Amino acid sequence: MEQPIFDVIVVGGGPAGLSECIRLLDSGLNVAVVSDVFGGCMGMMGDHPLQSYCNELEIEGAPIALRQFMEKPCISPTGAEYASYIRDNFAALPLTRVQQRVITVTQAQGVFEVSVEADSACMPLRGKQLILATGIRPKAPPFDAPAARWLNCFELYQLVAQGQARQFHDQDVVIFGSGNSAFQLALLLAPFARNICILVKAYLGLYPQETDDRFALRSLSQRTLEMIAKTSSTAVRGPLNSAGLGRANIWLHAYSAIRQSGDQVVLQLPASLNSHPLLRASCRNALEAGRLVTSSTGDDYELHLDASAPHQCLVSAIGVTAQLPATQWSGLVNQQTGFTRHHQGRSPIAGLYFAGAASGYASINTMVPAAAGVSAAAPEPQGQLSWA
Ligand SMILES: Cc1cc2nc3c(=O)[nH]c(=O)nc-3n(C[C@H](O)[C@H](O)[C@H](O)COP(=O)(O)OP(=O)(O)OC[C@H]3O[C@@H](n4cnc5c(N)ncnc54)[C@H](O)[C@@H]3O)c2cc1C
Repeated sequence: MEQPIFDVIVVGGGPAGLSECIRLLDSGLNVAVVSDVFGGCMGMMGDHPLQSYCNELEIEGAPIALRQFMEKPCISPTGAEYASYIRDNFAALPLTRVQQRVITVTQAQGVFEVSVEADSACMPLRGKQLILATGIRPKAPPFDAPAARWLNCFELYQLVAQGQARQFHDQDVVIFGSGNSAFQLALLLAPFARNICILVKAYLGLYPQETDDRFALRSLSQRTLEMIAKTSSTAVRGPLNSAGLGRANIWLHAYSAIRQSGDQVVLQLPASLNSHPLLRASCRNALEAGRLVTSSTGDDYELHLDASAPHQCLVSAIGVTAQLPATQWSGLVNQQTGFTRHHQGRSPIAGLYFAGAASGYASINTMVPAAAGVSAAAPEPQGQLSWA
């Protein structure tokens, strides 16, 4: 039997894919959506609350409201609640839904072919236009060492959501990263670990960076900051203080360079990068506790890390990059930003669009829909692969 040709195929069953499907269906197009998992990556937070507030997470035009999925009246849903919201809304839409992982995307005679996992009986899906809303994956760790035990932030979120955080009991956890993931993971491990050291490369400014249109460091990350302050101060006592409560000490240092010889790693912590009172106190106290040494000039600090040390886990939370299936085109990802090359969702390939986190949108409420440019008409030629 002849395979149908869809007006548009959307790959990705997360919030961006859902938003695109709603818009396409509103324009009367014949749509198929393919995803290995429906719900999106925020499901990895499990029963932990998301940083965004409910009103920032609603998908415009979704048939079922987010509040229907929230067990309690809270300002933010949990990761699991939000994934259910996305999944059930997909199920409520009049489109063709295929739960498979897409392996390759090709194009022949102006038609896109989307091939799913080899052991599936599914024929390739065919569409006149294609939207890739396949999200993000963690970047590689900042260094490799023969005996280092690295977890990336996605793996760690999943372990915590599966109730396995106890394996960090009495461990030293070293987290590389300066975003929400680094601060949030520190908080999630604080009831178990012995020491948690957050190593930031760039100092982003620590206090609530709320802006009108997107979340930044919010309450969960602020609790981590509170714990860092209390780890470095014997004068302050309180419910978040580590002293005597079985909670980890949390340290925060900014580094400028990494030197490495096998498993022996030295991080340079210049005083100038650590001049904020919170970082300054954290360095000073870590020095007193024997966790840091002063550099040969005496002005700066150094952290000597043995990557083979037992009872230690290294966590990489240094950012994310676009995740795409294999395609016949090279250069779809901008190597500098790590995200797809697009202009208002249009890729350099006629009829191919990118949406959501893969395009570099860091939060739901800042995403610009790709489907605004998609219509039933044949796609116009887009020119060369030259967009930034
Ligand atoms: C732990 C965590 C917490 C976050 N918290 C927030 C928050 O509070 N607020 C906020 O606005 N943003 C948050 N974000 C950012 C978040 O990633 C995005 O806002 C949102 O999930 C992006 O939606 P998306 O649909 O583009 O990507 P995703 O949610 O990642 O969805 C992509 C979908 O595509 C599927 N997929 C990928 N590759 C393939 C393939 N080859 N074949 C088939 N299917 C595929 C995946 O299974 C997934 O379902 C968070 C991110 C993480 C990692």
